[in-house]
Amino acid sequence: MSENEFSIINNYFKGKGGHSSTFTRFAIGDDASIHCPRTGMDLVVSSDTSVENVHWPDDFSRVKAADRAICSALSDLAAMGANPVAVWANVMARDEKSVKKMAKGVSNALRRYNVELVGGDTCRSAVNALAVTVAGELPEGSAMRRDLAKSTDNVWLAGRLGFHALGLQQWMRYQRDGEYIHCMEEITPLLSAGMHLREMGVKCCIDVSDGLLQDAGHLAVASRIGIDIEVTHVPNWLHMCRSVGAENFFDAVLHGGEDYALLFTAPAEIKIPNALAVQIGCCRVGEGVNLYRNGKLCEVESKGFLHFG
Ligand code: ADP
Ligand code: MG
Repeated sequence: MSENEFSIINNYFKGKGGHSSTFTRFAIGDDASIHCPRTGMDLVVSSDTSVENVHWPDDFSRVKAADRAICSALSDLAAMGANPVAVWANVMARDEKSVKKMAKGVSNALRRYNVELVGGDTCRSAVNALAVTVAGELPEGSAMRRDLAKSTDNVWLAGRLGFHALGLQQWMRYQRDGEYIHCMEEITPLLSAGMHLREMGVKCCIDVSDGLLQDAGHLAVASRIGIDIEVTHVPNWLHMCRSVGAENFFDAVLHGGEDYALLFTAPAEIKIPNALAVQIGCCRVGEGVNLYRNGKLCEVESKGFLHFG
């Protein structure tokens, strides 16, 4: 039976996220949601758009595409070190079936990370797409930022790089049971790691969504420093070079996107546990990102993902 948008909102969105937090007084059902931020806390807000045929292939599961859209938005909160408290999901759908599938994906992701869905919008559109807004909180002034690296800091990486690009390669070759397919089907926002780093006193962090080279470059520019990275220190380097070819993995790490690892800098006094991250380089006075492979400076052209350009 076909449903109108109001019954879809009630049946597929309302109450379908994680548990409510004290941040929200009133969620879905009025013209707007109502919130009460806690004293002494900053609110961190980010908005992200995912569009069919831009962010996901049109033969990809709509449930998984929506799940990924939520998770990539949550990853921005991870990068800031914020604890997610609310999500708004604007769902644009070609047809009723698409809206229901995307609603399922939104709900799956929000339940996994226990974040409440507090509002959004639902409309018909020529292409399937989601615009996701996320809010998180953290103690006043403690957000990790791209512009707070010091030239004396070391550079660290939490999470994996290159795996999403390998999964996408397999998807494009129709290898639906490929070893890396699951790495492109699901995004894991490193929320606990981000909060842990912020609590340890880490000041500067970015999530790697557009390849290591491009995102390290953003951090270097924002902080007005240079960065040296030894690419062979990236997790699983040797094993991955053996299994998919050194040039292929090198390319996936540098230019592949959407792995959502956290790239951060920290002074030597902060002891980062090995289980949390690996050191892959250091900051220096100057500018730009220099990439080393077994100690040898590499010539690499920048070609991370750009929407325009
Ligand atoms: P209005 O016309 O006043 O903007 P809507 O009919 O669009 O209100 O939405 C009604 C309620 O349902 C609002 O609280 C809105 O936030 C919520 N809502 C609509 N679409 C979604 C969605 N995709 N996800 C979560 N909440 C939604
Ligand atoms: Mg509306």
